[in-house]
Amino acid sequence: MRITVDTSLCIGSGTCALTAPAVFGQDEEQAVVVVLDSSPPEQQREAAELAVKSCPAAVIRLFAATS
Ligand code: SF4
Repeated sequence: MRITVDTSLCIGSGTCALTAPAVFGQDEEQAVVVVLDSSPPEQQREAAELAVKSCPAAVIRLFAATS
Protein backbone atom coordinates (compact mmCIF):
# COMPACT_ATOMS: atom_id res chain seq x y z
CA MET A 1 0.00 0.00 0.00
CA ARG A 2 1.03 3.56 -0.46
CA ILE A 3 0.17 6.54 1.75
CA THR A 4 -0.07 10.16 0.73
CA VAL A 5 -1.09 13.19 2.77
CA ASP A 6 -1.95 16.70 1.67
CA THR A 7 0.11 18.39 4.36
CA SER A 8 -1.08 21.83 3.27
CA LEU A 9 -4.54 20.95 4.64
CA CYS A 10 -3.41 19.09 7.79
CA ILE A 11 -4.77 20.77 10.92
CA GLY A 12 -2.27 19.06 13.22
CA SER A 13 -4.72 17.12 15.33
CA GLY A 14 -2.24 14.30 15.80
CA THR A 15 -4.90 11.63 15.46
CA CYS A 16 -2.97 9.76 12.77
CA ALA A 17 0.21 9.65 14.86
CA LEU A 18 -1.76 8.17 17.74
CA THR A 19 -3.65 5.71 15.55
CA ALA A 20 -0.73 4.52 13.41
CA PRO A 21 2.51 5.63 15.09
CA ALA A 22 4.65 3.46 12.81
CA VAL A 23 3.34 5.33 9.77
CA PHE A 24 2.72 8.89 10.94
CA GLY A 25 4.51 11.37 13.13
CA GLN A 26 4.19 15.09 13.73
CA ASP A 27 6.49 18.00 13.14
CA GLU A 28 7.57 19.12 16.62
CA GLU A 29 7.27 22.83 15.91
CA GLN A 30 4.20 23.06 13.71
CA ALA A 31 2.43 19.81 14.64
CA VAL A 32 1.87 19.06 10.96
CA VAL A 33 1.84 15.42 9.99
CA VAL A 34 5.06 13.75 8.89
CA VAL A 35 4.71 10.52 6.93
CA LEU A 36 7.28 8.19 8.47
CA ASP A 37 6.61 5.30 6.11
CA SER A 38 4.85 6.03 2.80
CA SER A 39 4.92 2.34 1.81
CA PRO A 40 4.12 0.54 5.05
CA PRO A 41 3.90 -3.25 5.29
CA GLU A 42 0.53 -5.00 5.23
CA GLN A 43 0.66 -5.42 9.00
CA GLN A 44 0.08 -1.67 9.22
CA ARG A 45 -3.02 -1.71 7.00
CA GLU A 46 -5.62 -1.81 9.76
CA ALA A 47 -4.02 1.06 11.65
CA ALA A 48 -3.48 3.05 8.45
CA GLU A 49 -7.11 2.58 7.38
CA LEU A 50 -8.25 3.72 10.81
CA ALA A 51 -6.05 6.80 10.50
CA VAL A 52 -7.64 7.59 7.13
CA LYS A 53 -11.12 7.33 8.64
CA SER A 54 -10.16 9.26 11.78
CA CYS A 55 -8.39 12.22 10.20
CA PRO A 56 -10.59 15.25 10.92
CA ALA A 57 -9.29 17.04 7.84
CA ALA A 58 -9.71 13.98 5.58
CA VAL A 59 -6.32 14.55 3.97
CA ILE A 60 -4.83 11.04 4.17
CA ARG A 61 -5.09 8.80 1.10
CA LEU A 62 -4.28 5.11 0.98
CA PHE A 63 -3.63 3.42 -2.35
CA ALA A 64 -3.03 -0.19 -3.27
CA ALA A 65 0.62 -0.89 -3.89
CA THR A 66 1.75 -0.66 -7.48
CA SER A 67 4.60 -2.76 -8.74
S1 SF4 B 1 -5.04 13.13 11.57
FE1 SF4 B 1 -5.14 14.39 9.68
S2 SF4 B 1 -5.26 16.50 10.41
FE2 SF4 B 1 -4.57 15.25 12.15
S3 SF4 B 1 -2.29 15.38 12.08
FE3 SF4 B 1 -2.92 13.54 10.91
S4 SF4 B 1 -3.10 14.24 8.76
FE4 SF4 B 1 -3.10 16.06 10.06
